[in-house]
Amino acid sequence: MSSCKPTPGFVHSTETFGLVDGPGVRFIVFLQGCPMRCRYCHNPDTWAVHTGKTYEADELLTKALRYRTYWKEAGGITVSGGEPMMQVDFVCTLLKAAKAEGVNTAMDTSGIVFTRNEPAFSKTREMLSYVDLVLLDLKHIDDEAHKELTGHSNAAVLDFARYLSEIGKPVWIRHVLVPGVNDDDESLTKLDEFIASLSNVQRVEVLPYHTLGIAKWEKLGIPYTLEGVKPPNAESIARANELLHTERYDGYLK
Ligand code: SF4
Repeated sequence: MSSCKPTPGFVHSTETFGLVDGPGVRFIVFLQGCPMRCRYCHNPDTWAVHTGKTYEADELLTKALRYRTYWKEAGGITVSGGEPMMQVDFVCTLLKAAKAEGVNTAMDTSGIVFTRNEPAFSKTREMLSYVDLVLLDLKHIDDEAHKELTGHSNAAVLDFARYLSEIGKPVWIRHVLVPGVNDDDESLTKLDEFIASLSNVQRVEVLPYHTLGIAKWEKLGIPYTLEGVKPPNAESIARANELLHTERYDGYLK
């Protein structure tokens, strides 16, 4: 019996030719809702759940399948956000239908809402059975610094990473590199050790912090607390790649 209940989804927007959120050319679904408050978030307009455009899963899949010819072997659909696991029933229904059509599926998540408690765990487990690849953001390995950066402990995130390793789900780890926040050698070395303890990581990506989202914060009237922090320079990005051993990981469907 399915643990997931078909339910409409609250969608912020869609992107028809996504090239960075998973392998190949992808249809990206940005869902509403995120409990995190990352200081560098470039989509603060996705934080509220019950807003945006409402879709039934089959309606959204039909829209996505119009672009199928561009996906070729590697491409497909990625659900992102916001935090897609906030709408687990919708994501589960959408990706189940996508897999029935033979579509490659990915989920871009912070893992923050993961729990091994029921009934959420059964829903998550079923949803993951329809996910080919998880793009998991690890924002800071130090718990106190993670709270400072996102407003939340990283305990659920790290447990989700361990769970994905337990079930052998392919994962790309992504780390947004923020100067003066998470680019120090000690944090990166500890993060590298944690990643090395997982058995399912296919790629590790360093994503340089950027300031493109600031205008959205201003528009929403929310104070931007990383004012003055500049994107990392080439040397700092190279150092992060070195310490995270990004070259060790093979990638996915090359
Ligand atoms: S998890 Fe993503 S959507 Fe949520 S606040 Fe952080 S960066 Fe923004």
